[in-house]
Amino acid sequence: MKKIKKIWIDIDDTLYPFMEYLLPLLNKDFWKNVKMEDINSFDLLYLWEIDREEFKNKIKKYNIYETWEIYNETITLIKNLKKKNIQILFVTSRFQYNDYDTIKKTKQWLKKYNLDGIEIIFNNNKWNICKIHNIDIFVDDWLHNILDIIEKSKKTKTLILDQPWNRIAEFKKLKITHLFEKIDRIKNLNEIIKYIY
Ligand SMILES: [Mg+2]
Repeated sequence: MKKIKKIWIDIDDTLYPFMEYLLPLLNKDFWKNVKMEDINSFDLLYLWEIDREEFKNKIKKYNIYETWEIYNETITLIKNLKKKNIQILFVTSRFQYNDYDTIKKTKQWLKKYNLDGIEIIFNNNKWNICKIHNIDIFVDDWLHNILDIIEKSKKTKTLILDQPWNRIAEFKKLKITHLFEKIDRIKNLNEIIKYIY
């Protein structure tokens, strides 16, 4: 078995429960009662009957990118991975704004948890980044990101972080039910440790 040297970790809904924070706020603002289980697909804006711009603006308004709390056990895990000399990359497609510096805010937010020595890549083309950086393990919650890596890379181990929107309903919708059992699913980020050797 090949030694694990580089791990790619998605940020939102992987390091902390982005959607759990977001849901009550959007529900309040748009008079809805959407629950986590209702988000069973990547197309989620219809649940609040809003468009992408409104969604983007709300995220900025709620200060999600700079205030919400990372799980304690996640912070410990990342520190342990660093001690093992495993290189970590945070990769995110967080929204960018003209009047809000997402990159700076994200860096400041991670610094609060002493995670500031870790490289952050802001990019939508996750496959490209994966290839350039020679990633051994890739962890994300969105199925389309996982599928892209599975399809294009034989080398990278992909782990899906279990969330309502990446369960069987989404596989059925995409007509890829046969892949459901084939993708390793973890319940929390700490399970990464099972794949380190
Ligand atoms: Mg995510």
